[in-house]
Amino acid sequence: MRILLVEDEKRLATGIARGLKDERYVVDIAHDGENALFLAETNIYDLIILDLMLPKKDGLSVCKELRNKKMNVPILMLTAKDTLKDKVLGLEAGADDYLTKPFAFAEFLARVAALLRRNRQDKTTALKVADLILDQLSHKVSRGGKEITLTAKEYALLEYLMLHSGQVVSRTMISEHVWHEDFDSLTNFVDVYINYLRNKIDKAAKKKLIRTIHGAGYMIKE
Ligand code: CA
Repeated sequence: MRILLVEDEKRLATGIARGLKDERYVVDIAHDGENALFLAETNIYDLIILDLMLPKKDGLSVCKELRNKKMNVPILMLTAKDTLKDKVLGLEAGADDYLTKPFAFAEFLARVAALLRRNRQDKTTALKVADLILDQLSHKVSRGGKEITLTAKEYALLEYLMLHSGQVVSRTMISEHVWHEDFDSLTNFVDVYINYLRNKIDKAAKKKLIRTIHGAGYMIKE
């Protein structure tokens, strides 16, 4: 599950992002309204967490613009304003839910999960390659019906591979999406984590799913 967090207060943004990553969400951060719109239009998100008071373009305008462009990604508004009028304005602008700062992190996570669940109701949440199944909501992974325990990074890497099953993904693409960095030094990291995944997913299985495409990267395929 990929989340866009729009928050100009950098320390708060880092803290929230860390908490979300601990829950195995993939998080991108925008510090102003214009960057938020740019990211929302260039990537596919399962949820946008949107602060109201933002530099360059405020949260209400960002929300309205996204809805005008027929983007129906769920939006959770976060704000210090807590008057009824502001809440109504936020919901009228197209927000799905509203949370006033400061908030308890447990409540925040519950609302995030509820919005993601609602959005996924008609869609399948499971990614499947052969007998390997990854559930994007429960974060459970199994192969041949046997549950596999993965670390947060292993899970993010596997989810990324499975979202692109049958396609080659380069080490750079992986490091950008899973680690949000594109330094060459991280590409060794990718190899290390691919090995961890192979040990957990392919080692005991007759049919290997993770393939090395020489000179190009990796691919997961039935
Ligand atoms: Ca703000």
